Amino acid sequence: MKYLTQLFLSLFLLGGLTASLSAAVQDQPFEKVAENIWVIHGPLEMPNVDNQGFMNNPGVVLTSEGAVIIDPGSSLQSGEMVLRMLKDVTDKPVVAVFNTHIHGDHWLGNQAIKAVWPDAPVYGHTEMLAMIKDGAGDTWVELMDKLTEGATKGTRVVGPDHALNHGDTIKVGNKTFRIHHYGQAHTRTDLMIEVVEDGVIFLGDNVTTNRIPRMVDGNFTGNINSVDRILEINAATWVPGHGKTGDVAIVKVFRGYLTAVYASAKQAFDADMDSSDVKPIALKATVAYKDWALYDEEIGPQGAQAYMEVEAAEF
Ligand SMILES: [Zn+2]
Repeated sequence: MKYLTQLFLSLFLLGGLTASLSAAVQDQPFEKVAENIWVIHGPLEMPNVDNQGFMNNPGVVLTSEGAVIIDPGSSLQSGEMVLRMLKDVTDKPVVAVFNTHIHGDHWLGNQAIKAVWPDAPVYGHTEMLAMIKDGAGDTWVELMDKLTEGATKGTRVVGPDHALNHGDTIKVGNKTFRIHHYGQAHTRTDLMIEVVEDGVIFLGDNVTTNRIPRMVDGNFTGNINSVDRILEINAATWVPGHGKTGDVAIVKVFRGYLTAVYASAKQAFDADMDSSDVKPIALKATVAYKDWALYDEEIGPQGAQAYMEVEAAEF
C-alpha cells in the first residue's frame, strides 16, 4: 500500500511537471505534393487545446542549397514539430523561411527555426513587418496562449527580417521564388509564393479548402481580384493556407465561395434590404460549402461584411 501511494504520488508529480512545460505538438508528417516539395496539412479547426494551436499548412521546398520553409506554424512548439518532421524529408540545413501573412497561426513558429538556423533569412510582406513593429505579433502570441489555454507558452515574436513586395524574386540554390501581392485580399500582408521551376504556388489564406477563412482583416472584392490574378499563372500544384493541396480546381471552388457571398450581399443591397438580411440569401447561394469547417459561424458575419463592402462601393 505504501509503495502504491508513492507510485501515485510520483505519477502525480510527473504529470504536473510535464503540464507546466507545455507538451510537444503531436507529430504530423509532411506529404509530398510535387518533386522536392512537401506540405503538412494541418487540422481544419481553430487553434484549440487539443491541437495545441497547430492547424495550418507548413511547406518545405528542397533546393540545391537546403530547405526553404513556408509558414512554420502557430507557436514555438509547432515550429519544433515542423523541424522534427523535416528530418524525414532532408538532412540539409534550413536556408530561408517565408511567411504568407500576419495571422499568427502561420508564422509564430519562426522562433523555433531561428533558434536552430539563426542565419536563415525570414521573408514577409513589407506591410507585415510594419504591423509587427506596431505590436500585432504580441497580440497574436496572447491570442494563441488564450485559445490553447497555455499550450503555446514560451512563444515569442520572431517576425520576418526581410521585406518583400509584389514582383520580387528570391533565388535559393536551383529554385526561384516569385512573389505575388495584389493589395488587400485575405489581409493587407498576403504573399502568394510561386516556385517557378516546379509550377507550384503557395497561396496563403487567399485560398483555403474545406474551411472558411477568417475575413475580418480582408476584403471580398480584393480577395476575388487576387485569386483572378494568380489564376493567370498556369501552375500544376496549388497549396492553400488550410485544407488539402490540389490542382487549379481548388482555387476556382474557393473563388466560387467568395463570389457567392458577395453576390448575396449585392442582391440584398439592391433590394433595399438590411445587412442582416444577407444571411438567408447567402445560405442558399453557398449551400455547396455548408460542410466546410467554420461555415456555420462565419456565413452570417461574412454576409454582413460583404454588404458593407457593397455599400461602400456604391458611394
Ligand atoms: Zn489567415
